[in-house]
Amino acid sequence: MKYDHLLVRYGELTLKGSNRKKFVNQLRDNVHRSLKGLDGFLVKGKRDRMYIELQAHADIDEIIQRLSKIFGIKSISPVIKIDKDLETINQAAVSFAQQFEAHSTFKIDVKRADKNYPMDTYELQREIGGAVLSNVDDITVNVKKPDHEIKVEVRLDAIYMYVDVVAGAGGLPVGTGGKTLLMLSGGIDSPVAGVEVMKRGVTIEAIYFHSPPFTSEQAKEKVIELTRILAERVGPIKLHIVPFTELQKQVNKVVHPRYTMTSTRRMMMRVADKLVHKIGAYAIVNGENLGQVASQTLQSMYAINSVTSTPVLRPLLTYDKEEIIVKSKDIGTFETSIQPFEDCCTIFTPKNPVTEPNFDKVVQYESTFDFEDMINSAVDNIETLTISSDYKTEKQQQTDDLINDFL
Ligand code: ATP
Ligand code: MG
Repeated sequence: MKYDHLLVRYGELTLKGSNRKKFVNQLRDNVHRSLKGLDGFLVKGKRDRMYIELQAHADIDEIIQRLSKIFGIKSISPVIKIDKDLETINQAAVSFAQQFEAHSTFKIDVKRADKNYPMDTYELQREIGGAVLSNVDDITVNVKKPDHEIKVEVRLDAIYMYVDVVAGAGGLPVGTGGKTLLMLSGGIDSPVAGVEVMKRGVTIEAIYFHSPPFTSEQAKEKVIELTRILAERVGPIKLHIVPFTELQKQVNKVVHPRYTMTSTRRMMMRVADKLVHKIGAYAIVNGENLGQVASQTLQSMYAINSVTSTPVLRPLLTYDKEEIIVKSKDIGTFETSIQPFEDCCTIFTPKNPVTEPNFDKVVQYESTFDFEDMINSAVDNIETLTISSDYKTEKQQQTDDLINDFL
């Protein structure tokens, strides 16, 4: 079948009024960005759905594949757009049915948005079904459980006919929901947490706490690569790399060993909080999960969270690890996340961290040093990279240059 359009259905159809306009405009921008580099298509975003007109040379599979990752799209169908005369409609339905496997069953499903069309839904179904039966061998009708449904939409401008419905990513278009700051560690969880919030339409910038020489350059490159994978979905993402060594050392100097983990997290939160205000974000997102490790008990979260009044979103709070791993594979970050480069916390992790930190004790340990200046200095010395889907680290670029020279 030679398709000439893609029909793109929006998610969350309950959105009304000016919200809908914002939603559709943002989705159109996101679709354009995602299809960059391809050609032979024209995007037409309407109020209730989007059509993508295809020229003969368009790579339809690649386009569908990219669209299926964009939040705000419920489903996609390759369709043919035809005139409203019966002869044309019947012929098109027959062409679809000729592609079904032998002995298959089918059903014609008509939706009639054009109420002035001379035939009603039932008449049309009978007419088109009859044409298929008389022109295609070895096929029968089954209205309850057909192998194939030929969908016929009678709209004002034309008739759209299709069989396949490809599931989209759902959610809301990224860019319609304000900005958040994602704490991105290089582990399995935080990239998944980022995608979960993006699904609700928010934009992310990422923050990574880097403690050289305790954490290697590879650990940082891993975070850059994770950001790059997320950018494939939503376009360029800012990654803020915080020089965290001094703070981490200082915590280990003044805080009781069993409490260094809690206190380190509190320092991260204080830095993140300052950055949130600087970049105009409204929330911090992290990959915390209830009960996984010492730093993720309720008591810990209470102690860590108390340094900020900014909302801290934890989209993975109640997930099982298995569920997170499935999602991580799905979004394509798993292979990178499991590379064995330590993050700043593993290095300093005490053998026996307290799992139920006493809030007053943490505060008391920290009160022996004025951390504020160090925190401000960490914020002032943040290195910010803008990572797009084709981002290359200096090392990757050098390797590429060497290969090119050699060729
Ligand atoms: P992840 O798989 O995301 O690393 P985790 O199960 O290892 O999570 P923790 O190490 O306790 O859990 O970290 C909890 C959360 O704190 C992480 O999901 C991340 O959001 C944040 N975090 C931890 N370390 C860093 C870091 N070095 N830079 C930025 N964020 C961090
Ligand atoms: Mg981790």
